[in-house]
Amino acid sequence: MEIIHISAECYPVAKAGGLGDVVGALPKYQANAGHYSKVVMPMYETKFLHQNEFVEDFKGNIFLGNWQLPYTVIKEKNNTLGFDLYLVDIKGLLDRTGIYNYDDDTERFMAFQLAVLDWMHHWQHNADIVHCHDHHTALIPFMMQHCYSIKNKLSSIPTVLTIHNAQYQGWMSWNKNHYLPQYDTWKAGLLEWNNLINPLACGVKCAWQVTTVSHSYMQELTWNSNGLEKLFEYEKGKCIGILNGIDTEVWNPKTDSFLTHHYNAKSVVVGKQRAKEELCKTYQLDAQKPLFVFIGRLVGEKAADILPDAIMSILYSLPKSASFLILGSGEPEVEWQLKELNKSFEGNYHAVIGYNEALSHQMYAGADFLLMPSRVEPCGLNQMYAMRYGTIPMVRSTGGLQDTVIDIGEENGYGLRFNHATVGDVHNSILRAIKVFEDVKKILEMRRFCMQINNSWENAVDNYLNLYEQLKIEKP
Ligand code: ADP
Repeated sequence: MEIIHISAECYPVAKAGGLGDVVGALPKYQANAGHYSKVVMPMYETKFLHQNEFVEDFKGNIFLGNWQLPYTVIKEKNNTLGFDLYLVDIKGLLDRTGIYNYDDDTERFMAFQLAVLDWMHHWQHNADIVHCHDHHTALIPFMMQHCYSIKNKLSSIPTVLTIHNAQYQGWMSWNKNHYLPQYDTWKAGLLEWNNLINPLACGVKCAWQVTTVSHSYMQELTWNSNGLEKLFEYEKGKCIGILNGIDTEVWNPKTDSFLTHHYNAKSVVVGKQRAKEELCKTYQLDAQKPLFVFIGRLVGEKAADILPDAIMSILYSLPKSASFLILGSGEPEVEWQLKELNKSFEGNYHAVIGYNEALSHQMYAGADFLLMPSRVEPCGLNQMYAMRYGTIPMVRSTGGLQDTVIDIGEENGYGLRFNHATVGDVHNSILRAIKVFEDVKKILEMRRFCMQINNSWENAVDNYLNLYEQLKIEKP
């Protein structure tokens, strides 16, 4: 099968979160399974772009309303990632250092989608599956079916939309309707949700199949999806949850190039101790104490706002009982609060504000516990990375976290779960973890158990391939 993934992110080219990890791994595992899987994404100004060789694949022009935009598709020359990677260069719109958060993101991702469709329209053949990811590419199924200039060639290709996060939907007002190529006007309702053009809602309506990244999140979307609850209820017949896997080549404590000391389940005690000491030395933390880490976007969904109070409550009530290391960026208020604590708890607390891929790997390796109090977590990859590195996950029971972590109180349990994203629940969970840490035999057993759990894409990839096969059979 020939599968084309269309995405705003793909690790290691450009990543802001889990979407990048998934699009960097799933196509590779599909290619390993014998399929021709490729990725097309915007050409941002990234390190990857300058460190790798590319060849020109296609040059074309699109219209974004009345604005004519030349674009170039370039292809990475050496199959470095294990699949063909194509980048769409649109000067002045996509060629920036960041991925998101520009005022003209609507125009940027609209132009990207138009260029991808125009490019695909010029191919001599058709792909077997068009796989879109999140709202940045979610207008593609609509355009393939209903835009006059596109539908003749592309409407028969099955489309899949994977929702990595339904909080962000790409809303735009109707005065941007003219960005879309001409379409059957009586189909305008497919674009609309609550009086706006809603790309994610449109994708849910128009894609042949909708998937999201865990079973629990699929159910949650029918009662908590930032306004789309009724739509998910109505469309649930074509929506399924497929749990993400992890790239076990990138995330491997035995070979991880970001680590100085490598280890496996057998050598986890020494390996982890070294990684922890190194980390603690860098950030002046007490390596004798259990080390709790948080890695992620500092936003409401991740409940990052409760971290300052939860950490303060522990370090005031039980001074020097634990060490904390935080890595993340996001809401300025939360960043500020977390940074302020650096002064109060020197020796037992440090927050690094920013995005740092290398440090994240070193933290998964050096930590004893990974905190994830998330309010919303579609799948969550951090807990799976943590387990692979023998770090005990501490998660709120929600979305993919409850699908991947079993509490030690239950049969075959290996992690810590709590029910509420509150200071009290996080506080109590940390106290529980400190007790577990004191039981040297128990914690080693848990670490080893976590490390042998197989969350690889190798298992998950078949679920997507079966779904594609089914769609090909159903093709008109
Ligand atoms: P989300 O996509 O909602 O942010 P996921 O758990 O699905 O959350 O994926 C998060 C990914 O982003 C993980 O690979 C995590 O290590 C990485 N990550 C998040 N924030 C940072 C950061 N500040 N520095 C480095 N890596 C980060």
